[in-house]
Amino acid sequence: MGNEPEKHHRKIIHIDMDAFYASVEQRDNPELRGKALVVGGSPEGRGGVVATASYEARKFGIRSAMPSKQALHLCPHVIFVRPRFAAYKEVSQKIRAIFSRYTDLIEPLSLDEAYLDVTEDKLNIGSAIEIAQQIKQAIKDELQLTASAGVSINKFVAKIASDINKPDGLKFIGPSAIEAFMEKLPVEKFFGVGKVTAQKMKNMGIHTGYDLKQLTEDELVKYFGKAGRFYYQIVRGIDSREVQPHRETKSLAAEDTFAYDLTTIEEMDAELDKIAQTVCNRLQNYQLKGRTITLKIKYSDFKQITRNQSFTSGVNDLETISATAKRLLAATLPEDKKIRLLGISLSNFGDIVQKQKEEKETDQLKLPFS
Ligand SMILES: [Mg+2]
Repeated sequence: MGNEPEKHHRKIIHIDMDAFYASVEQRDNPELRGKALVVGGSPEGRGGVVATASYEARKFGIRSAMPSKQALHLCPHVIFVRPRFAAYKEVSQKIRAIFSRYTDLIEPLSLDEAYLDVTEDKLNIGSAIEIAQQIKQAIKDELQLTASAGVSINKFVAKIASDINKPDGLKFIGPSAIEAFMEKLPVEKFFGVGKVTAQKMKNMGIHTGYDLKQLTEDELVKYFGKAGRFYYQIVRGIDSREVQPHRETKSLAAEDTFAYDLTTIEEMDAELDKIAQTVCNRLQNYQLKGRTITLKIKYSDFKQITRNQSFTSGVNDLETISATAKRLLAATLPEDKKIRLLGISLSNFGDIVQKQKEEKETDQLKLPFS
């Protein structure tokens, strides 16, 4: 694509707030500034998990989704703070208002992340880099928070770019630089490549985009299924997905393909716990509750089934999601089959989002943590 100078490229910015929940807490509580801080579940209860760690806490190796107990072990003086989602949501709306000065093509990915299409910007600035700079500055001046921005011609590269100079970063990857950039990129940095897939690639001797590029599209599909087609395109810097301003969340899901087929109910339950945690984090991030929980099972012979259960009111707590998924799984057994993939999704959000808006702040703070 670099040798097509006439081609009209889109201008895409990916903005990602730096350690968002932790930064808001440090902004609002001066005594927390400069301290190792975890926003998330208490380390005392079972199942408490780190939602966000401050940069001071990250120095000790603390990361998102890590059990709070482990975080405490890594840094005994770390301070735990319960999330205030209502506060984060309010800040998120202010950030979105800043974006909307430049474009209406805003696709939020969560409270602290969004894609912006500024191919045509409202202020006729023209330069996506300049716009990203102005947005970062406005967030700093008006909200006393920092954001990192990635600028490129498509969503995939913009998202990877925003992570490069974090925190308070700005990275531009132009059309002529994309292919070389993708070739050097380690496979685990490819957005959408999970741990299991990354390991599978490494076992096959695929470590970077360059290695990935040596495979034909058919080979990639053979090894990685439908995702293979996406890898084929993405490694060549091709991503035609539009920025979707009104994308409605109809369902939230997480799934995992296993390196080895699962054969025992204990292994399956343990995996369901992990998947439930991921779904749960996403629901919290979007402030959603779903009335239907669906379990997806793919057997080693690729046969796939789904089972679901609906509730009279929305759920988003770890215990219910995990227990329901396990119950649905148990009800499909005994199937003398090996399982290669498990997934959990929540759907049927319906009017719950609206209802949630009407609820008081205290009601919104029911957490899955501890
Ligand atoms: Mg972030």
